Amino acid sequence: MASFDLLVIGSGPGGYIAAIRAAQLGLATALVEKDPGLGGTCLHRGCIPAKTWLESAHRFEQMQVADDYGIDGVDAKSLKANLATIVKRKGRIVLKNAKGIEFLMKKNKVTVLKGFGKLLGGGKVDVAGEVHEAKRIILATGSAPKPIPGLETDGVRVLNSDHILDLTELPSHLVILGAGAIGVEFASVFSRLGSKVTLVEFMDTILPLEDEEIGVELAKIFKKTYKMDVRTKTKITRIEKRDDGVVCFLEGETPGEVVGSHLLVAVGRAPMVEGIGLEKTKAQVDRGCVVIDKFMQTGEPGLYAIGDIVRTPWLAHVASDEGIVAAEHAAQSLGKDVHPHPVRYDRFPACTYCDPEVGTIGLNEKAAKAKGYDVQVGTFPFAPMAKANIVGEPHGFIKIVADKKYGEILGIHILGPKATELVASSVALMGGEFTVNELINTMYPHPSLNEVFPEAARAVYGRALNM
Ligand code: FAD
Repeated sequence: MASFDLLVIGSGPGGYIAAIRAAQLGLATALVEKDPGLGGTCLHRGCIPAKTWLESAHRFEQMQVADDYGIDGVDAKSLKANLATIVKRKGRIVLKNAKGIEFLMKKNKVTVLKGFGKLLGGGKVDVAGEVHEAKRIILATGSAPKPIPGLETDGVRVLNSDHILDLTELPSHLVILGAGAIGVEFASVFSRLGSKVTLVEFMDTILPLEDEEIGVELAKIFKKTYKMDVRTKTKITRIEKRDDGVVCFLEGETPGEVVGSHLLVAVGRAPMVEGIGLEKTKAQVDRGCVVIDKFMQTGEPGLYAIGDIVRTPWLAHVASDEGIVAAEHAAQSLGKDVHPHPVRYDRFPACTYCDPEVGTIGLNEKAAKAKGYDVQVGTFPFAPMAKANIVGEPHGFIKIVADKKYGEILGIHILGPKATELVASSVALMGGEFTVNELINTMYPHPSLNEVFPEAARAVYGRALNM
């Protein structure tokens, strides 16, 4: 039996970052992983592989308009997406990053234990039949696609997000159930690679968690630019599989039948709490998620939970920040001189890498009003900005939501070119508790996409300059 100060179960962005932080603080640390590679959903079946597909789709689209940019000799009509190569490139990038995490574990002297980790109670953990002991334990087991009754996936015609990442045949017609981040990202991939795409969403708008204006505008762009069939307020009630496709039966605002070559079920993920021995502890589970306090502690002394198994935003960077808080709190409780700061859930950036991209932080207009703020907003489009036209992406807008009384910025919502990069500066603005006037008085470089920031701030007072 090996003994550790801290043992982390799960090597995703929550778990492996927690392990590094604990090791930095001088804890004898172990990281347990059941899968062959380190890195979790994010690296093997989520953020990273999805973005490699998006990059291929982006380059494919760019090649089609090469002549517009003065590049002769590219025969747009003969371009064809080679999915096998996209899958291979994805695999190379995933492998490189997984090796990077292995290197980091060695560098930080974290012991990696391969196998399924199961709590036995009393600080003991079974990993592949061997029992290990730890003073503190962090659960970071993440989430996985959850089967939906009647819409079971088979990996052939009916796919989940794991399956679609390894698809080597271009769907002639991809029906996507669910227009959250995963659904709209794959809609953006396959519509650009040449598939017909039907996007079905039960809520009023696509990306229903975002500011309403973002979902409405993105749907317009999807329909106009990518000829997508976008059906909101609609659900798929049942399906019939055929050898050559799937018949989807719809109910709601646009009822009827849609016959796709493939269906992607992009709704439904569940925390991985089954079989990990929670019943041997005092940890509470509420609607599938482990209950935690602001330092990520569960009800069992010395047991922490982070990432997709807790009811906080299911994002890789949130999981990593939670991992740091848990590791620091565990180290402090073992006598190390460190002072953990709880995660600020009111200021996490959320990005969707569709085309155009979405990057947001803070309260949207509806949420700010619901919280009782007297709200003022400033909106500015990318269309008049020189840089957006230079890069050939004059779509979308930025919207600033501010409090009327003090002008405090409550939220920033961007739909447009490089929105997932632009939102990073919003993180600093929100962190520094900037007001609208302070943003107006901040100089931005020209020509740059960033120029929309002061323009949207001016628009709050109806005095944008370039519109
Ligand atoms: P995970 O990354 O799920 O890792 C958990 C690990 O624990 C896994 O490796 C699993 O094998 C292991 N494990 C589970 N149980 C055990 C056990 N008992 N013993 C040993 N090991 C175990 N988020 C973003 O921020 N940006 C994005 O662009 C983004 N894109 C996404 C795209 C897709 C298609 C999907 C599905 C998700 C995406 N996400 C994105 C969400 C992101 O992947 C998750 O929020 C993040 O991976 C959660 O991290 P985690 O550490 O909690 O768990």
